[in-house]
Amino acid sequence: MALTTDLSGKTAVITGSNSGIGLGVARELARAGANVVLNSYTDRKEDHALAEEIAENFSVEARYIKADLSKGDEARALIEQAGTCDILINNAGIQHVAPIEDFPVEKWDAIIAIMLSSVFHTTAAALPMMRKADWGRIVNISSAHGLTASPYKSAYVSAKHGVVGMTKVVALETAQEPITANAVCPGYVLTPLVQAQIPDTAKKYDMSEEEVTQKVILERQPSKEFATTEQLGGTVAFLCSPAADQITGTTISVDGGWTAL
Ligand code: NAD
Repeated sequence: MALTTDLSGKTAVITGSNSGIGLGVARELARAGANVVLNSYTDRKEDHALAEEIAENFSVEARYIKADLSKGDEARALIEQAGTCDILINNAGIQHVAPIEDFPVEKWDAIIAIMLSSVFHTTAAALPMMRKADWGRIVNISSAHGLTASPYKSAYVSAKHGVVGMTKVVALETAQEPITANAVCPGYVLTPLVQAQIPDTAKKYDMSEEEVTQKVILERQPSKEFATTEQLGGTVAFLCSPAADQITGTTISVDGGWTAL
């Protein structure tokens, strides 16, 4: 089977896609011919410009829709506004690092809302559209932290494990339909979310930023290399291809060997 995927005529909604992995996934799905809906919680000229750039580069339709996914009704409205959703990529995420006893309650609530509850809301809104189209793909961007834990990341690890559980439930509820649900579990990918952690960690350990990257961040990743947003996009495109018709309810790690340790 050819490794190229033809997604022309399909519409993909990618949450949290004005940056990092979400944007990389949007570009790879557009490269495969899908129309894309980008999203984040801002409504800036630059956000809409990203959609215009994708439309122009890949000759597809691309739109940007603002929705704050910490709010369930906005998560559902994103899908309704998209109008059609053949491919749903739940990707939006944030991070906060603190010991449990000091973990700010509002950060816990925000992480669970944006990274776990929004997956429930977008999925509930998208499934009727997929059933109507008689085809659907749901790919949830979990994490190596959806399969393993690290200290001080209680909300993130809980949300990412929750996303893996949710993925399995969706897969079972759609098992006899032409709809699949899977989770992709990246190790470290050099995106703004990870870059933001480097200066503070450098200060904490009195190290240079380069040392932090190699000795602290990539310490868990045996390949000692970051995964790229293009590789994540390629993995998602594969899950949307006919080769993956029978892959459902599972996780694919893109983590340089992290979870083999
Ligand atoms: P990023 O910061 O570049 O992107 C996060 C995206 O989520 C942005 O588009 C941001 O605007 C959006 N977002 C945040 N809060 C939102 C809200 N309330 N409503 C709507 N959108 C919101 O980070 P990234 O590294 O590209 O992360 C993307 C996903 O991949 C996250 O779920 C993250 O947990 C996961 N992940 C990242 C890595 C990594 O190493 N970068 C590893 C494993 C998993």
